[in-house]
Amino acid sequence: MSAGLTALHAELVRRNPGEAEFHQAASEVLESLAPVLTARPELAEAKIVERICEPERQIMFRVPWQDDSGTVHINRGFRVEFNSALGPYKGGLRFHPSVNLGIVKFLGFEQIFKNSLTGLNIGGGKGGSDFDPRGRSAAEVMRFCQSFMTELHRHLGEHTDVPAGDIGVGGREIGYLFGQYRRITNRWEAGVLTGKGLGWGGSTARTEATGYGNVLFTAEMLKRRGEDLDGQQVVVSGAGNVAIYTIEKAQSLGANVLTCSDSGGYVVDEKGIDVRLLRQVKEVERGRLETYAQRRGASATYVPGGRVWDVACDVALPSATQNELDADAARILVRNGVKAVSEGANMPTTPEAVAVFKEAGVAFGPGKAANAGGVATSALEMRQNSARESWSFERTENELAVIMRGIHETCYETAERYGRPGDYVAGANIAGFERVADAMVAQGLI
Ligand code: NDP
Repeated sequence: MSAGLTALHAELVRRNPGEAEFHQAASEVLESLAPVLTARPELAEAKIVERICEPERQIMFRVPWQDDSGTVHINRGFRVEFNSALGPYKGGLRFHPSVNLGIVKFLGFEQIFKNSLTGLNIGGGKGGSDFDPRGRSAAEVMRFCQSFMTELHRHLGEHTDVPAGDIGVGGREIGYLFGQYRRITNRWEAGVLTGKGLGWGGSTARTEATGYGNVLFTAEMLKRRGEDLDGQQVVVSGAGNVAIYTIEKAQSLGANVLTCSDSGGYVVDEKGIDVRLLRQVKEVERGRLETYAQRRGASATYVPGGRVWDVACDVALPSATQNELDADAARILVRNGVKAVSEGANMPTTPEAVAVFKEAGVAFGPGKAANAGGVATSALEMRQNSARESWSFERTENELAVIMRGIHETCYETAERYGRPGDYVAGANIAGFERVADAMVAQGLI
């Protein structure tokens, strides 16, 4: 990092104490920006980097709710509206006990560059709560969502801020949130949330988009090296939305997907993960992975507490959560001959692990590029909502494929242009930054 950017990061740490994940995400982006600021001094003069690191608005609020036994609980709600130079704030809501301001800011910061890379007109934001939906009844989740939206609704709007799902927020939660928004505002404003049900304004392929998109990005990286996914051994972490559709798409391209995981442990399935069974256990029954292994029979083993990275593979697709793949795991993957690693989750790979992959010449797809298919398809959902249209699955999936190829090309070419060939991290950060920076300069000092 240049001296100027190092000082800027030190100031960011000083002004945002205790927000370790935000410091990490900012450092990863700033490390790529020196060549752009040298080539384009007008961006440094306008203090674009300083401005981009400061959210336009941060909202924190109390979320009171009652459980089924009548006990009162108080959670904290967040929405960080980071940057709207390119369009309405856009980014998911995460419900997980680990959520705090630093986590939401890291996710919102990443979202600015990710959304920019899609080439669509969406700004960056993120939100959520430290509410833990695991083990809660549907009625409890509904009451929580209604209380959460009772405050959040005043900050949203199809032209203002458009949330979607993330960890702990899927189709069921989006339904409860949309219902409460509609009730309070007395408006059928379909474009205010994405990830909706197909019968009431949702888009085909949105559920699949993040996982499918990451596999398409991985396939593009491999193509540049004269390879494809057919016959590759693939390791996936996570067993939620992103992981499930990553597995499905990788299998459809001929890969053998050996693993999936949740916070309790992981499954290795020598015959390849059975996606139908996985969906039944995780999506329908909301159960644990142990159940998958019990029902699957001899080919599957459940490893409590372990990490999928110990399983030898050609391709690794981390799809659970931040910082789940550290330098030790990266060294094991490299020793086992991994060729490509692509992030379905947001910032799952620690900076030290990214350095190990770069050093070993492994193709590495950063989340802000590789998992952008989800938000891109959300933007397609918004487009369908404003035109009151519903596209076929094939049409949406084709658009997604075009967008993912475009993101790959943009990252690849930008990295080459700035003298960092094959460095998708630099390519994604610089290309994502430049588009937002140009819009900010054009729109004046705001
Ligand atoms: P889900 O809630 O559907 O699934 C999350 C999965 O990761 C679960 O298997 C969960 O296990 C596991 N997990 C979550 N937290 C932890 C943890 N602290 N330690 C170990 N395992 C954990 O979420 P998604 O699949 O939607 O999201 C996964 C990742 O992808 C996140 O990083 C998210 O930000 C990112 N992402 C998601 C997008 C989307 O469209 N949904 C778009 C772009 C990125 P358990 O059930 O045991 O908690």
